[in-house]
Amino acid sequence: MYKSKSDLEKVLALSESEKAWSEDIPHLPVLISDEVMALINKYDQNDPIRRQFVPSKEEQSDYLGSLDPLEEVKHSKSERFIHRYDNRAALLVTDQCFAYCRHCFRRRFTGHEIGAVTRHELEEICKYLEKHTEIEEILLTGGDLFVLSDWKLEEVIGMLKETRPDIILRLCTRALLSHPRRFTDELFRVFERHNTGAPYYLMTQFNHPREITKESVEIVSRFLSLGIIAFNQSVLLKGVNDSVEVQVELARKLLVNRIKPYYLFQGDLVNGTSHLRVDIKKGLEMEKEMRKRLSGLEMPMYTIDLPEGGGKAILTHNYLAGEDENSWIFDSPYGGKREYPKIN
Ligand SMILES: *Cc1c(COP(=O)(O)O)cnc(C)c1O
Ligand code: SF4
Repeated sequence: MYKSKSDLEKVLALSESEKAWSEDIPHLPVLISDEVMALINKYDQNDPIRRQFVPSKEEQSDYLGSLDPLEEVKHSKSERFIHRYDNRAALLVTDQCFAYCRHCFRRRFTGHEIGAVTRHELEEICKYLEKHTEIEEILLTGGDLFVLSDWKLEEVIGMLKETRPDIILRLCTRALLSHPRRFTDELFRVFERHNTGAPYYLMTQFNHPREITKESVEIVSRFLSLGIIAFNQSVLLKGVNDSVEVQVELARKLLVNRIKPYYLFQGDLVNGTSHLRVDIKKGLEMEKEMRKRLSGLEMPMYTIDLPEGGGKAILTHNYLAGEDENSWIFDSPYGGKREYPKIN
């Protein structure tokens, strides 16, 4: 485990910008697991995995953005429970992760030594869920859900399943990459014991094809054997995956390993992440090209989580280019225009 600049210096020749990162400015802590470090090509200062986990000066010279760009705090029922959309909610079960991503959009919360959700907090959330029957899905997120001990995980899932067995639970984690050893027989037994009622969905975050390892693919298979299918949410990141080639390779590798690409997020306006954000114009051009090259199953939805709690909006080329009296006029993704008659 690497927790400080001096830990990093032992294994990496730090660049000027990485050296200039100051440990004194309180922000997102450094934490890189051995598994993540093993994936970093130490001879490449621009390695796409290094860029996601090794901090640099750029994150401290960025004053654009906020620590809570989605105004999650305003939409929170408690520090840990965000109920922004009518039929679904997010429960931040812990602020801890096995490795901290420099692009983390929840910096206001992540890595602040807040700890795991308490039994008392869970009881309050369960009371809320009893009243709010419109909630159909809960995202178990954080931080990383699987930082919880087996015991705590069982408490969280047991209490939610007992209160509302009809709620779909999304298991949001980056541990397939950052801590694959966490997925023990004992952990899977928790889900075996609580595999009634509405289904679970596994929500992964793989941003670069090299992150999908033999170990992570095996973990996906084990969830599948319990009937739990996997979706991937990635972030569009400059110098990591901001090329059509990398996105195409990522999407194919995900789908072939039984993970459905779900969202490709535009970077949020989080303080300290501007060096990783991609211009929306470039993102839209990439999306258009990706849609031509990828199958419908491979294609993620390019999505922006709007500032000030505006919610998620899909970014895509508008193929409906116009209309005249008799027809709708479309851009064909493969070039040229097509007309579709107006039928009354
Ligand atoms: C993204 C998000 C969800 C889930 O949205 P989907 O579009 O259904 O994936 C739920 N709650 C919050 C607060 C979110 O940010
Ligand atoms: S795993 Fe998720 S919550 Fe944890 S640091 Fe990365 S983006 Fe943030």
